[in-house]
Amino acid sequence: MKVEVLKDDGLYGEFILKNSNPAFANAWRRAMKSLVPVLAVDYVDFYMNSSFLYDEVIAHRIGLIPLKTDLDKFNLQNECVCGGEGCPNCQVSLRLNVEGPRTVYSGDFVSDDPETEPVFDSIPIIELYKGQQLMLEAVARLGFGREHAKFQPVSVCVYRILADVKIKDSCSSCLKCVEICPKNVFTVENNTVVVEDGFSCTLCRDCLRVCEENAIEISETDDFHFKVESVGQMNVREVAKRALEALKSKAEEMNTLMDEL
Ligand SMILES: [Zn+2]
Repeated sequence: MKVEVLKDDGLYGEFILKNSNPAFANAWRRAMKSLVPVLAVDYVDFYMNSSFLYDEVIAHRIGLIPLKTDLDKFNLQNECVCGGEGCPNCQVSLRLNVEGPRTVYSGDFVSDDPETEPVFDSIPIIELYKGQQLMLEAVARLGFGREHAKFQPVSVCVYRILADVKIKDSCSSCLKCVEICPKNVFTVENNTVVVEDGFSCTLCRDCLRVCEENAIEISETDDFHFKVESVGQMNVREVAKRALEALKSKAEEMNTLMDEL
């Protein structure tokens, strides 16, 4: 197996997983969504809320704000030395004290840890009117995407199987495939149809349906084109790497179990 990176600008990445199989590609996709922990607010203490919204509604909105996550700095709460009670090794507090009239943004939070803060400063939380106040302490901890969507490090994580498109000699150059292909896989060169962009083929097989000579051959390859978009807590490369580590440790755990049988 090999990974070829096509695009990587931190928050968005595209890569090809080569010589693999659907089971592994899907396991990796699922691991990126649900086995890489990130920080999110899980508990909010309200000292004052005279806004128009209930505490629960505001707490839910705060929970969904992505927080910059350094996984080497925090423990999972159930694996922490504090035994899950909460300590600086496994949680971080963010404070908010705002008076209206004004809109409260994610950038208004003051974090106990300067490196753990909202990824984006401009996420609106609530609009306060004159005389209204919001004072609270939000406590963030690490969690997994399988617990709640707020702990998901990726907003998009998809793959498609790459196709191998071939044109046989029996092709009569009727050009029907060129017309019907929505991805412009085929083109005409010297009055013959050639495959110009096999990478874009989505395996829709429309060309096979219109080809009267049965001259097109399409098969699935062992390569998978991934598109991953991070929510912002960490970059795509780290999410992909941590997901692989999670899969590896699960496989090792399985091996140990098998040995014990
Ligand atoms: Zn702890």
